Amino acid sequence: MSRTSSAEVEAPDGAERWTPPRLESEIVSYASETREEYESTLGQLDLDRIHWDVSRRLFRAGGYCRSRIEEGPTHEIVVSYPAYIYWGWDRVKEIVRHEMVHAVVFEEYGPDAAPHGDEFRALARRVNAPLRGEEALPYRFELLCSVCGRFLDGLYEPSVRTKSPREYRSNCCMAPLEVDEKRSYHELREF
Ligand SMILES: [Zn+2]
Ligand SMILES: [Zn+2]
Repeated sequence: MSRTSSAEVEAPDGAERWTPPRLESEIVSYASETREEYESTLGQLDLDRIHWDVSRRLFRAGGYCRSRIEEGPTHEIVVSYPAYIYWGWDRVKEIVRHEMVHAVVFEEYGPDAAPHGDEFRALARRVNAPLRGEEALPYRFELLCSVCGRFLDGLYEPSVRTKSPREYRSNCCMAPLEVDEKRSYHELREF
């Protein structure tokens, strides 16, 4: 695997982190390997019918699969870049397997199959995918009362309140706010 140093940044923990385009190409390769590894379960999936995308703004889920019936079904699978930053590549691989199972369930059982129903669970176990794959990420920013430390609000994106928290007051103590940004998210600033 060739590595281009300009496309990577050094994470605070020393681990290297891929950029969104690099992550997307790694996901495409991994999906192809995974389809071969679990041929009996995923072999029917035509990977040309899957469009992969990495979103920098998806915080409410690690990923999702949106399937459509056309001449043959097509699937758009979106993976959260913040999830990669926060949870790492191994977790992203689980998300990829989970979303591929959604695609198979759609093709085998149609659009009315329950999202995480019996059919899904049986197939997910066979490819060692987590049964739940869409949980939200922890908040990137927490707004706190600067006097009593109470949690007031959580946000995923920077806002006027996260940029100038001291210009806002808490209801509990009528005190300026403080902002706590989760350490793992600091890497997102690079992109
Ligand atoms: Zn799911
Ligand atoms: Zn307070």
